[in-house]
Amino acid sequence: MQVDIATVRQAIERDELIPSFQPVVELRTGNLAGFEVLARWHHPDHGLILPPNFIPLAEENGLIGILMQQTLRKAFLSATLLPAPLRLAVNVSPSQLRDLTLPNQLQEAAEKGGFPLNRLTVEITESSLLDNMEHAKAIAGQLQSMGCQLALDDFGTGYSSLRHLQSLPFDELKIDRSFVDSMTKTRESRKIVASIIGLAHSLGRTTVAEGVETEEQADMLLWLGCELGQGWLYGRPVTAEHVPGIIAAPQRAAPATIYTPGDGWAVSSLEALPTQRLSQLQAIYDGAPVGLCFLDCDLRYVSLNKRLADLNGAPVAAHLGKTVKEMLPNNFESYEPYLMRALQGEAIEGVELPRGQAKSGELGTALISYQPAWDEADEVIGVSIAVIDVTEKKRTEQALRESDSQLRQMKEQKEEGGKVPWIMDATGNSLQPSSLWVTTTEVNKKRIRNLGWLEALHEDDLQPVVKIMRDALRTGKPIDIEYRIRNVDGDWTWIRSRGKPHFSPSGEILRWYGTLENIDAKKKVEETALKP
Ligand code: C2E
Ligand code: CA
Ligand code: CA
Repeated sequence: MQVDIATVRQAIERDELIPSFQPVVELRTGNLAGFEVLARWHHPDHGLILPPNFIPLAEENGLIGILMQQTLRKAFLSATLLPAPLRLAVNVSPSQLRDLTLPNQLQEAAEKGGFPLNRLTVEITESSLLDNMEHAKAIAGQLQSMGCQLALDDFGTGYSSLRHLQSLPFDELKIDRSFVDSMTKTRESRKIVASIIGLAHSLGRTTVAEGVETEEQADMLLWLGCELGQGWLYGRPVTAEHVPGIIAAPQRAAPATIYTPGDGWAVSSLEALPTQRLSQLQAIYDGAPVGLCFLDCDLRYVSLNKRLADLNGAPVAAHLGKTVKEMLPNNFESYEPYLMRALQGEAIEGVELPRGQAKSGELGTALISYQPAWDEADEVIGVSIAVIDVTEKKRTEQALRESDSQLRQMKEQKEEGGKVPWIMDATGNSLQPSSLWVTTTEVNKKRIRNLGWLEALHEDDLQPVVKIMRDALRTGKPIDIEYRIRNVDGDWTWIRSRGKPHFSPSGEILRWYGTLENIDAKKKVEETALKP
């Protein structure tokens, strides 16, 4: 129907304007935070008429004040049922910002309806501030001194959003629906929304996203750090009788999940606020037992932890702003291909490469992982790198390999000169008993393992052997012992055991390698020679 000023006037006279309430929710939890009051006109013949059809007309003809009073009177009456801490937000028109009695009108309406002013947010659109700055300042100051909060509505659509942000004490920024709508489609608007939220945070303001219609938008907004959301996803504007039902519902909506660019959607929502999250991450970063750093697209160190600085042999501060090539000229060539692939968006895990050594010569080995980092527009903005120093492990492996090849050689020369090899670990457990034991004694092969071999010893030899062994294990002194073992005939056979330890590069005993020799005949000859 054709709306003209006469019909608007009539609507006011017939008291046909009513408030509708649209829920505002906390994105992180899905909990209800409050409602925004939006005017509706219930025409007896033409049904529901929306604000764009009558608000501008009322404004032009000086009827907006009375229109607002009519709507808000009803809104506040209904809102007495709104339990704390739920809030109510109301809109004021540009022309109302010239009216210095506005704060008093609001106060009167709220008090009549019994609604506390400290739970009221007054939304002012950007455009309305253009030629009303001085009045707006006075009115805004008064509203805040009454305990109201101020929201800058339709943020980003006006001509001088930043100036308004600076000159008026807004508590909240409402991100305009147009940005939210295009945010999931174009990277530019995603960047704009990210910047608005970042700007609001750095000024200590809360952000509310308008026109949230899809879960994808909600998730992305949460990921960008936005606190509150409003839109069809959470509920359309409803009349007062539906408000209690919405309040009673345990949860308005499923909480948004964290969006992670470049990796589809993550399912967990972090509990902490973005700033706390940052401190937590910093603590993890500093305390990690692996070297960590973040490089920008020019391969300059943006950040790194102490561990990596130590591995690279230079202080943390000396790295910042420098390129990998400048810091590690000797190794850069081996890192470069992986860095380039990571900048193309490829994650590379656990490559064994020379360890970073700033200019100096000592060679080491590291296990390095490369993970590209994406910004909110899915562009690679750098590479995160994790470095595990495996130098020691490599050396130990090498030492063991060398030892094992020695053993193989020993085996090949097996029983040469009657010497039969054995292996023992650092604590004295037999890992591979000499075959001489197996053939000489009754103690079966399984039992010889570990400390079982001591069972076959002559009781007079047991104590001295144990003492020598214990000393040798502690000090690494070579073993050279003679003792008797019970043989298959139930008799005693003299044995000589000699062995040496093999050390790790750091000086720990890894293994003992030795040989066993049957010296029975020699011993018996000696014994008879000694007999008087
Ligand atoms: P606004 O303050 O930006 O209000 C948000 C508008 O977006 C509302 O339109 C709302 O119904 C609509 N909206 C909310 N969620 C969604 C969504 O998910 N998708 C889409 N497409 N739209 C959504 P509405 O009710 O037509 O109001 C339009 C404008 O009229 C309001 O914009 C506000 O500036 C003004 N207005 C409404 N009520 C009042 C009032 O009582 N006083 C004054 N001065 N202005 C009012
Ligand atoms: Ca609004
Ligand atoms: Ca708006």
